[in-house]
Amino acid sequence: MDLVEFQGKQLFGRNAVPVPPPGTVCRTVEEIAQAAEDHLGAGASAVVVKAQVKTGGRGKAGGVKLATSVDEAREHAEAILGLDIKGHVVQVVYVEPASDIVEEYYLSVMHDRVGKGHLVICSKEGGVDIEEVNRTNPSAVVKRTLTPHETASGLKLETARDIVVQAAFPAEVVDSAAELLVRLFDAYRTEDATLAEINPLIRRPDDSVIALDAKVSLDANAAFRHDGYAEWLIAGLDADDPLEAEAKAKGIQYVKLDGSVGVLGNGAGLVMATLDVVAQNGGQAANFLDVGGGASADAMAESLGLVLKDDRVKSVFVNIFGGITRGEEVAGGIIEATKRLGDFPQKLVVRLDGTNAEEGRRMLQEADLDQVVAAATMQEAAATAVRLADEA
Ligand code: GDP
Ligand code: MN
Repeated sequence: MDLVEFQGKQLFGRNAVPVPPPGTVCRTVEEIAQAAEDHLGAGASAVVVKAQVKTGGRGKAGGVKLATSVDEAREHAEAILGLDIKGHVVQVVYVEPASDIVEEYYLSVMHDRVGKGHLVICSKEGGVDIEEVNRTNPSAVVKRTLTPHETASGLKLETARDIVVQAAFPAEVVDSAAELLVRLFDAYRTEDATLAEINPLIRRPDDSVIALDAKVSLDANAAFRHDGYAEWLIAGLDADDPLEAEAKAKGIQYVKLDGSVGVLGNGAGLVMATLDVVAQNGGQAANFLDVGGGASADAMAESLGLVLKDDRVKSVFVNIFGGITRGEEVAGGIIEATKRLGDFPQKLVVRLDGTNAEEGRRMLQEADLDQVVAAATMQEAAATAVRLADEA
């Protein structure tokens, strides 16, 4: 999961990575003006009004502006709220006491899957697009992959020092930047981040260095070992599809796709094969949905309900191979689901095979549901589902 800047700074702060004085998270022009008044009143000579969106290049897009008065902050607020930055509409703004900048550097740690280690990237040329620097002036970008063995007890200060020296950081900041890198690595490790990037890392007039920007990605697979992981999700900012979010909350494996044939199967392998057979029949699946191994009537009803909520879905291919899940259980689930869901226009093309499939099919036939179309094979089911979707 990607964090926005202010969250990244929070995460840095609690791991002793130096950041600017705390700012204020705002959603309206009034809140921004008030925050500016508070910070200016508390002695800040200026505030910086910063769009909180999950994309870089906010500065260039007009999403980062300095203000020395409340009126100026208000003007920036009006310009920045609602601004579209690479498809991300600004809804949240961070107002922070502005920092004085002497120089801007670049520093990051990330997973290096190819190098099987932790990649540290460091450059004296920060505040700009690092990929661009890497193209035009590659010698200015130091890249060092550290093995898990090397970093077993954290990043060593001497290694960190070596990296910033190699990046030709000025002598005045070498020690503090090296110390900051050790802490950054520690934050990255402690928080199970896959990326912790500071661009720019700034040198202040007193030669201290702090993270002026923060880009952090957390490993969602490690969420279970972090209390409060869910609190990183911000209403309106997290572009999770509402159906995907609902599926996640219900523990259903669901991924939205682009087509019109809803797909529901048991077992990830079978669902993937279902997507293929839909495609082979000239259709396109609207989603991936795995009801899981022990597809109970309840899970079936929940899953079908979810697929049918997507109004692009014109037909649904229910592909079940009974193993542990028995055919009559699946049939019961489908019957229950159609009862619960009431009237819906889409047809369910059901292919049921495996353990107790006959019993399941018989139940479906006896239930005589308008919406259910039985299919003998996967191929037949796919062809029917695609045709029904096309006709709808
Ligand atoms: P990005 O464009 O999305 O990477 O946003 P940043 O947070 O990196 O800000 C972009 C640029 O705005 C920085 O490189 C700085 O030059 C400038 N900037 C941001 N915050 C401040 C601040 O507190 N003081 C000053 N003087 N400039 C700032
Ligand atoms: Mn930046």
